[in-house]
Amino acid sequence: MIKALAPFGVDADQQMIREAAASFLDEACPSSAVRAAMSSSSGVDEVLWRRISGEMGWCATKVPEGYGGLGLGWVELALILEQMGRRLACVPFFSTVVLAATALIEIGNREACARWLRSIAAGEITATLAFGERGIDWDERQVTARAESTGDGYRVDGSFRHVPEGCAARLLLLPARLSNGDLALFSIDALASGVRREEHVGFDVTRRVAAVELRGVQLAPDALLSRGPAVHEAMERTAALGAICLGAEQLGSAQKCLDLVLDFAAERIQFGRSISTYQAIKHRCAEMMLRIEATKSAVAGATRLADTCPDLLTLKLEAACAKAFASETLRFCAGEAIQLHGGVGFTWDYDPHLYFKRAQASSQWLGAPAVLRERVAAALFDSAMDTAPSAQPPAGEEDREFRGEVRRWMAHHLTGRFEVLRHRGGAGDEDAFPALRKEWELELAQGGWTCVGWPKQYGGRGLTVAQQIIFHEEYARAGGPGHLSHLSETLLGPTLIAYGTDEQKRRFLPGIVAGTDYWCQGYSEPGAGSDLANVQTRARQDPDSGDWVLHGQKVWTSLAHECQFIFVIARCEPGSKLHKGLIFLLVELNQPGVEVRPIRQITGTCEFNEVFFDGARCPAANVVGAPGDGWKIAMALLGFERGLSWIGMQQHFEHQLQLVCKAARECGADRNPALRERVGRAWMGLKVMHYNTLRTLSGVADGSLSREAYTVKHYWSNWHRDLGELAMDVLGVEGDIRIDDFSRTRLQQVWLFSRSDTIVAGTNEIQLNIIAERALGMPKEPRPDR
Ligand SMILES: Cc1cc2nc3c(=O)[nH]c(=O)nc-3n(C[C@H](O)[C@H](O)[C@H](O)COP(=O)(O)OP(=O)(O)OC[C@H]3O[C@@H](n4cnc5c(N)ncnc54)[C@H](O)[C@@H]3O)c2cc1C
Repeated sequence: MIKALAPFGVDADQQMIREAAASFLDEACPSSAVRAAMSSSSGVDEVLWRRISGEMGWCATKVPEGYGGLGLGWVELALILEQMGRRLACVPFFSTVVLAATALIEIGNREACARWLRSIAAGEITATLAFGERGIDWDERQVTARAESTGDGYRVDGSFRHVPEGCAARLLLLPARLSNGDLALFSIDALASGVRREEHVGFDVTRRVAAVELRGVQLAPDALLSRGPAVHEAMERTAALGAICLGAEQLGSAQKCLDLVLDFAAERIQFGRSISTYQAIKHRCAEMMLRIEATKSAVAGATRLADTCPDLLTLKLEAACAKAFASETLRFCAGEAIQLHGGVGFTWDYDPHLYFKRAQASSQWLGAPAVLRERVAAALFDSAMDTAPSAQPPAGEEDREFRGEVRRWMAHHLTGRFEVLRHRGGAGDEDAFPALRKEWELELAQGGWTCVGWPKQYGGRGLTVAQQIIFHEEYARAGGPGHLSHLSETLLGPTLIAYGTDEQKRRFLPGIVAGTDYWCQGYSEPGAGSDLANVQTRARQDPDSGDWVLHGQKVWTSLAHECQFIFVIARCEPGSKLHKGLIFLLVELNQPGVEVRPIRQITGTCEFNEVFFDGARCPAANVVGAPGDGWKIAMALLGFERGLSWIGMQQHFEHQLQLVCKAARECGADRNPALRERVGRAWMGLKVMHYNTLRTLSGVADGSLSREAYTVKHYWSNWHRDLGELAMDVLGVEGDIRIDDFSRTRLQQVWLFSRSDTIVAGTNEIQLNIIAERALGMPKEPRPDR
């Protein structure tokens, strides 16, 4: 069992905030209330707004305590916004609490904060912020309003076409240029003379937008909140933080779309059964969940990073990632919600269209996805940024020292004859330098760096989850080669620790720790791939010796030609079917009755094999669990493949993305807008993968699979496949030519080998089945042979 990594999860207080928000809005903001507000003249659900700002005190969430607020973080605010997005709450919360309050805090004018933030926190005033003439994101070129000093204040003229909740707001925060060209931010009473506001007739009537005109508006000197470069920086930060919050809101809306579909699909009968039993429907729901979980990770990472006050570039890129994911997820889920409801999905009376319209409108605010991806590409190519720091679980002094220790060890040992192994042997390169990589495993073992997460009593290092993350990060960052011992260390070892006999532990664990014994996995057979329960390899017990005697064939057995042992599931009860009557055996490969035949792959190399058993023997002492328990043990073993090893894999992926960027720079593809956008997408995807893993590690305290954990394999394998295609498109016609340059051949390998990522360890289609049935609780299709 993996210990939970608490810091990246939602803590008990945050959980309470989320649940309180959800149950309050369930009661206070049903669809009927949204529809009533939509058709009201103000577009605001006044009763709900009074309750939110009064009874619930949500407007105070992020306001510092010194100004009468609760001083909570972005994580807490995002949890509330997520719930508001689920309900499409028609209240000026986003404009007041996210945009206006954040701008005031970022500007930091004490008098203005004392005056306005207190009122916002107390729910006494509504407010909004405009970005520029036509701007819906911060771009100082859009600031065309003019402010002239009049001796006793300012006179402001200008127009702002897109002001969120511009008619509902009492306080307007508006940027303008002073006569010397300086930027300035003003606070303006919306009812002041010379202010004209006109609401647009939009499609998304759950959040109204107004045009605001200022004609000769006279302002007192204290209306000037700030001027000069500080305004630019404050507006940039506000826009980035606003984008993260909007992403949180979109996430909630997307989740609601999925819930609407699941409820509807469970009820709707066609062709004599619930449509939720059809795989086409299940897969589409699973796709929605995949995107929702990815978005949840992006928002979780961004809000955590925002709470640590990062530098502006880091914040902007984090926000770009969260907002781009959220916009596309909501658009996808809302579109699917219409489609999967059939005809009623196209009616006004059903809710999907409300989310569809919100999706479109909000996708344009604070950065459309393509714009945000270009922002990342610009940072990667134009500022030569390699990677931006990601949110991490908080690290103590001990962890920092540990990081240094791993770093130093790798620097001293991955040198000399091992130098050639740097970045080798990862996904798609498994068969590189096998002999030297085995020597490297011995080197690691001598340093105490094998089986680092195993308990000390079994020869492991007993590292905490946080330290294991650090180890895998630093190992891969240094270019540490892929482990030939991966299956032994991460799958078989933990299985033996959990289910093996004392004798099995004594016999088999030390060889894994010492880096001398290698294991391969004998699960798949010609007739048992996705349908693994159909294994036909027979195991019969010899009545004289008690040995189990094997007959049959395994296939696709990775690295069997490099291993001394194989763990096998076989059928031990004649006539048994499916999951029953199976046995889990620990078998030596080097014995009569075993033949290993390599299979050539599309890469031209042979990483996997056929393994034939014709009378091979396995002592009775090498049965894990009882005969008949094979399925239980086999599945438990797969359950160990979660989390920690992915961290190192991601570091390899990061290196591959760096190679793609390098190739793009060299061949000029970094100037191709379509490729730049795909690079931006890949970078964001990698960041989300990292957060997916941290969330997964945060959620497995009781050993059961958390919802997000179901999505991880599908996510990384498809990301990697896309990276392979991107790499080849970047290389262009040169990509088809083999030359002796590892930075290029590595990309070609990624392209070819990543085709196996979406097949191995559960194909894409099987992953979608699992997500639909286990994570979403949709019905299983009955098996004819059951
Ligand atoms: C590089 C590589 C290494 C591997 N290493 C190992 C190893 O070390 N040990 C080991 O035991 N196995 C290994 N495998 C095998 C791997 O786990 C199987 O290939 C995988 O489970 C799919 O089984 P299959 O190949 O029989 O395909 P099939 O199950 O025949 O699938 C064929 C197609 O049908 C689809 N399909 C099947 N069932 C369903 C369904 N119910 N609903 C919808 N679609 C369905 C699949 O998604 C796929 O697209 C490896 C495979 C690869 C590619």
